[in-house]
Amino acid sequence: MKKLIVAIDGPSGVGKSTLSKLLSLDLGYINLDTGAMYRAVALASLRQGIDAKDHAALKQLCEKIVIEFVRGEKEERVLLDGEDVSAQIRTPEISLLTASVAACPDVRRAMVERQRVLGADGGVVLEGRDIGTVVFPNADVKFFLKASSEVRGQRRFLELQAKGVDVDLARTISEVQARDIADTSRTNSPLRQADDAIVIDTTDLNITQVLERMFKVIAKFRQS
Ligand code: C5P
Repeated sequence: MKKLIVAIDGPSGVGKSTLSKLLSLDLGYINLDTGAMYRAVALASLRQGIDAKDHAALKQLCEKIVIEFVRGEKEERVLLDGEDVSAQIRTPEISLLTASVAACPDVRRAMVERQRVLGADGGVVLEGRDIGTVVFPNADVKFFLKASSEVRGQRRFLELQAKGVDVDLARTISEVQARDIADTSRTNSPLRQADDAIVIDTTDLNITQVLERMFKVIAKFRQS
């Protein structure tokens, strides 16, 4: 069967991570969480006191740091220079900082280059903001997921709460909205739907329902 490149794009809290993990597990594909890569850069910049506007320093940082994904006991872990930073990169502070760091063209260039290498052989599900438009414009299957910002904020809130993070619902919703603005308004690779993407509105759907729709689409492409 054909080893596909599957792109999943959409705003934060839309279900991309969960869906891409489940899809890749079922298909036996690699799962590439590109947001985690940008988050790792943001964490590294914070630790080194680099301002998100200092593009030259961010460029140098990207040349130095090593970001890896390793299989943990339960889930995939993200390593920054060998240190497991999976939890540290998920805080609300890093989420907001990431949107600024990810606007730097040199950071994007470095990350996109790595993503293309990792996905080149197919058999991969990549999730992010610009997969179907920039990273793999020729991806075999492109999904664009959307949902209202209230529902996405609520999902993110429950997710963080379950992890024991002290969060506030209204604040989480406004953080999701702030990230939407940052991600859609940046000059470089803004979040936008590819013309040939299959759009799924997940506002009133649960994960199983979305997954079913995605599997139906993928099944057609795998056989063609
Ligand atoms: O998907 P996640 O919420 O982990 O992404 C964190 C941030 O990383 C996004 O808000 C966005 O600014 C950035 N990002 C990006 N391009 C991607 C993936 C994520 O700019 N392909």
